Amino acid sequence: MYNLHTHTQWCDARAPMEEFAKEAAHLGFTLLGFSPHSPIPLESPCNMHKADVPLYLAEADRLQTLYPDMKILKGMEIDYLDGWGPSDDYFKSLPLDYKIGSVHFIPTQDGDYVDIDGRPDSFMTKLRDRFHGDLRYVVDTFFDKSQDMVRAGGFDIIGHYDKIKLNASVAHPGIEREDWFVRRADDLTDLIIDRGIAVEINTKSLEEYHHTFPAQRHWLRLMKSDVDIVVNSDAHYPRRINAHRPDVFKALRYLRDKR
Ligand SMILES: [Zn+2]
Ligand SMILES: [Zn+2]
Repeated sequence: MYNLHTHTQWCDARAPMEEFAKEAAHLGFTLLGFSPHSPIPLESPCNMHKADVPLYLAEADRLQTLYPDMKILKGMEIDYLDGWGPSDDYFKSLPLDYKIGSVHFIPTQDGDYVDIDGRPDSFMTKLRDRFHGDLRYVVDTFFDKSQDMVRAGGFDIIGHYDKIKLNASVAHPGIEREDWFVRRADDLTDLIIDRGIAVEINTKSLEEYHHTFPAQRHWLRLMKSDVDIVVNSDAHYPRRINAHRPDVFKALRYLRDKR
């Protein structure tokens, strides 16, 4: 058992790394990868500061000595902004085992970067106040920036690559089944496969919102391709370190056997 998407006290997790390691070891994990939200050139309460990066790396090393039977990996979930992101020299200089590339912030029509990854109520306020209520603009920009990030490269796994469907479908139920949305998500899937980037199936919102990222309809296409698939809980709480991962593995086995 493993999880490669685990947050830390230096970003927005609700417990210290040691609590996550303790829970993972208790469940019998053989591999635990930490992935704090990266430093970012914006004001963001969810992202770690550059000054804390050495502390994070040292804590991962300390936990490795505490839990010798569980391999602990030092990762990072790195944001993409225009022309800045996982391919930046700063991230290349860090001794990381792997990098997740994720889009959480997109530019408004006025060019300000806004976090569109928060909870639906906060998204609805931002949609109205920052994006002039233009949901199509938000979704198109999310997919545009995701494609730009994939083309720029510099990371190993793409994080929750259609996550905009959660907040967009709260604003406009059924939007993820509309032709244009389906085409945008399919085009991104094609590009990811073309570039050979590993994909995570992210279970963070399965319990509360019944969404996986990416949606289940992409899984078979991904399985038939050469890309690696990992199943991650995107844990912000230790007790959720393995949340719904077994359900996704079961569904993947079913799809594999049916092929
Ligand atoms: Zn994320
Ligand atoms: Zn995350």
